[in-house]
Amino acid sequence: MDSLTAGTALAVIQGCLALSTVCLYFAAPEERCTSWWAVGSLLFAAGVMLVVWNAGAPSHLPLLIGNSLLVYGCVIHWRGLQIFFKKPRSVAGWYLAVLFTMVFELLLQSQASVMQRTIFVCSALTICSALWVKELWPRSQAERSIGRMTAMLGVFLILATFSIRALTLLANMTTFLPTSNQPISVAVTFIVPMAGTLLFSLGLFLLYFERIVDDRNHLATHDELTGISNRRAVVLAGERELDMARRFRRPITVAIMDIDFFKEINDRHGHAAGDDVLVALAQLLGESCRAVDLVGRYGGEEFVIVLPGVDRDSVEVVGGKLLEVVANHRFQHCERLTVSIGLAVLHPGGADHVSWRTLVYQADMALYAAKAAGRNCIRVSPQGGYLSVVAQQPPPIAA
Ligand code: GH3
Ligand code: MG
Ligand code: MG
Repeated sequence: MDSLTAGTALAVIQGCLALSTVCLYFAAPEERCTSWWAVGSLLFAAGVMLVVWNAGAPSHLPLLIGNSLLVYGCVIHWRGLQIFFKKPRSVAGWYLAVLFTMVFELLLQSQASVMQRTIFVCSALTICSALWVKELWPRSQAERSIGRMTAMLGVFLILATFSIRALTLLANMTTFLPTSNQPISVAVTFIVPMAGTLLFSLGLFLLYFERIVDDRNHLATHDELTGISNRRAVVLAGERELDMARRFRRPITVAIMDIDFFKEINDRHGHAAGDDVLVALAQLLGESCRAVDLVGRYGGEEFVIVLPGVDRDSVEVVGGKLLEVVANHRFQHCERLTVSIGLAVLHPGGADHVSWRTLVYQADMALYAAKAAGRNCIRVSPQGGYLSVVAQQPPPIAA
């Protein structure tokens, strides 16, 4: 395959990828990164076309525009990556692109050789690929997704191509000059970048869809207002914990917490103030509970807390601590906020038939009892598993 055919194939592939990305952009215009990726691919495709078509009879302007388009395409792709990863706006890439055009123009005016120009272009594109790597590099194990790794593999191929070409030309080897039509040169100059481009774009598409799936999962499992687990997530996790507790014969406690006289806060200060209190309480519960505990918003101003390992001996202490933490916290909009808590304990060896639903029902009944007892107190269900315990007295009420 000659350079012209291989270059045209690379440009056509870039064009098709640009078109696919444009479709992605019109499907979800709020994701601005896709428009940058599409424009980046288009400019790169145009740059490749200009460079390869002009290779036979190089003239000043097409050379300058073609090579500049390659660099601008890469920089625009880089900006798309920054937007995708929600990085702050940076102008470094634009400086790089403008600097490239200026230096390339100087090289053309000073009649620099094709080798010197190629070394310069390959070095600039190596720097651009390194900038992509910088954005894509995973900072934690969780970030090592298939999409990210595919995109990284593509970028490494592109980076390897340009750096190898720059280094071999620096060593005075002419194999990878644009004028060389040797099969190895065509492969390194066009075919490897083609594979790299395809993998890079596939990786970006995968990353994009991974983000959508993550967002959808987050929405399905988290409460929109407070950001903690929603009812659905806490039920699923709670059922799992209950299974584990049964299998490993460990105690488990389910607590339902309800804010006392919450309606008054809404009535007095407005619903936005009530929302603030719910957010602050969710955060406080998250900070006060152990890492193994599950905290979720069950609905309205009710929270559910699953406490693995808490048994009948410790349930009152744990429940009392939660009461105190809330009563001692200074919430915005209200001088004093108290909660009532109903708890149900399933002891090791507790009845196998006690389901999550039953346990929550028992905790709920205990909560009604706590409300009836005057609020700002806890009650433990008398039926939570066959070895559960009834708290005869609520713990002291915090001031
Ligand atoms: P009690 O001590 O008996 O629990 O009294 P209460 O006022 O807390 O209970 P009630 O069930 O009468 O009122 C609960 C209130 O919670 C009513 C509802 O408007 C409010 N609420 C439910 N969800 C939200 C929410 O997301 N934001 C706000 N601001 N208020 C909410
Ligand atoms: Mg309430
Ligand atoms: Mg309620």
